[in-house]
Parts: sequence; C-alpha cells; structure tokens
Amino acid sequence: MVLLLSLKGVHFLLTYRCDLECDHCFVWGSPKAEGVFTLKQIRNILVEAKKLGTVDYVAIEGGEPFLYYPIMVKTAEEAAKLGFRLEILSNCYWATNPEDAIEWLKPLARVEDVQLSVSSDFYHGDEWATNEAKNAIKAAKELNLKVGINTVKYPTTDMPSPPEEMEGVKIGALWEIMYRGRAATKLVEKANKKLWREFTKCPYENFEKQGRVHVDPLGYVHVCQGISIGNAWQKPFSEIIEEYNPHGNPILEPLILGGPVALVEKFNLPHDEVYVDACHLCYVARVILRNKYPDILVPDQMYGEFE
Ligand code: SF4
Repeated sequence: MVLLLSLKGVHFLLTYRCDLECDHCFVWGSPKAEGVFTLKQIRNILVEAKKLGTVDYVAIEGGEPFLYYPIMVKTAEEAAKLGFRLEILSNCYWATNPEDAIEWLKPLARVEDVQLSVSSDFYHGDEWATNEAKNAIKAAKELNLKVGINTVKYPTTDMPSPPEEMEGVKIGALWEIMYRGRAATKLVEKANKKLWREFTKCPYENFEKQGRVHVDPLGYVHVCQGISIGNAWQKPFSEIIEEYNPHGNPILEPLILGGPVALVEKFNLPHDEVYVDACHLCYVARVILRNKYPDILVPDQMYGEFE
C-alpha cells in the first residue's frame, strides 16, 4: 500500500551527539551520544529522496549538526544541487560573537535557499534569548541568510518580547514541550497531569498522511522519533517509503485508531492513572514494548539507553 505520496520533507538527524544535554530533548542529544552520518550515506538518502518525486525540502538537525561542520556544509550543498529547499537547526554554541559567527555562516550563505533555524529558549540558556542565538541572528542578517527561531514554551514563564537583535525574525516554531525522550524522565515530576484515558489521539503526527520522516545515522527511518518504519542501510530509502503501510504496523495501527490509550489497551500494558500529555503515555508504553518490537522501537539512542 503506498500512502506516503504526501512525503514532503526528509530530516537528517546528522548526529545524536550534542554539546548540550537539555532536559526537554526528545532525541536524548548529549556529548555522550554516538552516531554520525558519512557523506556516502547522506548522498544515498538524498538521491533516494529525489527518486520519490514528492520531497521538496531537507532539514539538517541533530543532536547539534555544527559539531560535524564540513559534513553539514557538504550535505547542504549537495541537497541544494538536487533542488531541495533546506533548513538547518542549531543551538548556535559556535556563535561566540557576531563577527566570528559570520565566518561560520559564510559557506551556508553561498548555498541557495537555506534557512538557519536557531533554537533559543529557557532550556538552552538562562535567558529566553541566548547570547549565542543573538550573535548568530545578527550574523545571518548581515549575510542575508534566511533565519528563524525555534523555541519551546516554558511552563512557568510567559514569552518575553524579543530583544533588539531578534526583532523582525520569524518564530518558526513555538512548541509546547513534548514529554517524550529525556523530557519524559526529567520534566514530568512537576508538570500537571491528566487521566491516562484522555490521550486518545496522537497530537502531532498523521501517520496516514505522513508529511516528513527523520533518518538517523544508523539508517533508521522514523515517523515519530523512536518509531522506525525500516532501515535505509538494509533496504533502499525509496522502497521503505513506497511500501509504508501504517495499518500493517503493530505500533502505528493502534496509535491511528485511538492514540496512546489504544496502544496501552492493545498490549494490556501496566500504566499509571495520570500522565502529562499524549507523548508521555506513548513514550512510556513504547519503552515497555521495546523488547517485543526491537526492529521498530529503535535505536537505543532514542530511548536514552546510552546513559
Ligand atoms: S503521541 Fe506518540 S507517536 Fe504521537 S507524537 Fe507523541 S510520541 Fe509521537
């Protein structure tokens, strides 16, 4: 059954490694996390994505993609050559001052149709607008490089107005925390919770009309981080996409029919009475199911098992 004709975006998790270890990170990014793409693997996915004919953009994220700078730049150049629009996500640890940040960004500013999306919020620094984010934005503006901000709402603090350096920059994503990955262990204790029975819908993914997938350095193709529909090092990426059938997938089918509640009920899983959000219940259920579905609920990195 071919259902992924709606696929528009391929997100490269270029690496699981990050210089930071944020509490809200749903891919468990960490200096200790392992796994990075080779250029050969990236070229393989880009060519396969092109074959599909529906993909129009590529995102490069992590972990922190600037940790593997030459590979990231080459990925951007090769994706642009194939006609993909590009987004690169970074916490901007490298933007120690605006002048030096220009040097980091110059090679990207030469690539066609790139947007730098800056992660900046109370989880990445002591202030909503981190100094590094401000420096990167100033440099991007100077280079006429498209720039946006991705930020996560902090539950106890209102969003302050942006500082001068960030004025006029679009906030591309203003996320609620998704309580999966590290957030499901570090942030749930103090968060408000609801009865588990309320989480009858996946709030973020439409598995029957999947618009994007994430591919990681181990080859796994994720429809939500930690739910793999195949391994691109074992089968061509385009075939994984063309053969995708969420209703034949033991994890996705209940999620489609009744959200995380249906997943828990299908497998008769033990559970608490209350959870913070749908992702929290879903993630906890998936952790229990990992032994039963070792090819789907992968890799260890997505479940913090390197820690
Ligand atoms: S409910 Fe589950 S499948 Fe849906 S976005 Fe949250 S973690 Fe992913």
